[in-house]
Amino acid sequence: MTDDKQAKLDDIKAQILKDKVCPELAEQATQLVFGDGNASAEIVFIGEAPGKNEDLKGIPFVGAAGHFLDEMLEMIDLKRPDIYITNIVKYRPPNNRDPYPEEKKAFLPYLQSQLEVIQPKVVVTLGRHATNCFLPDLQISKAHGQPKRVKLSLKEHKGDVLEVVILPLFHPAAALYNGSMRQTLIDDFARIPLIIQKIQ
Ligand code: URA
Repeated sequence: MTDDKQAKLDDIKAQILKDKVCPELAEQATQLVFGDGNASAEIVFIGEAPGKNEDLKGIPFVGAAGHFLDEMLEMIDLKRPDIYITNIVKYRPPNNRDPYPEEKKAFLPYLQSQLEVIQPKVVVTLGRHATNCFLPDLQISKAHGQPKRVKLSLKEHKGDVLEVVILPLFHPAAALYNGSMRQTLIDDFARIPLIIQKIQ
């Protein structure tokens, strides 16, 4: 099952390259940073876009924010191989600028396809960019840590919907050096096991 899902994820990655999504970004980046982890994960984490380290390694969240994320995962007894992690925008924006709306829009169908394959119970959106892809009007400063049920329309099975629980959290890079935001993120993170348990 996981192999089957992994093969489908590999197809989506190949499709992004074939479709030449965001060619200007692709030209300046080292490589596509598609996603990493368990193709059958119950929980998927979505960030904004790769940074310098991710661009070099081809894996999301391997820099300072990623180490902080790993620490929080360990706190709830999870490791990278238990989860799946990706970004909305899959090439590093030059100088780590914010992704443009049209870049997020261009990558969204592929992100939705990734979720359609993985079928996670919980999607943790890290920061406002990832959160607002699914919940456009939501303010992360107010709604962080509060799970929301969302219906995503499926591309593969037209008319069907995938129901997922979105959990908006502060972005670990923003929280890393901000004492109160850091503690809020740690507290929100600690509630993830209970949120997953309630869904089952
Ligand atoms: N920040 C992100 O949003 N994504 C990464 O992969 C790394 C840092």
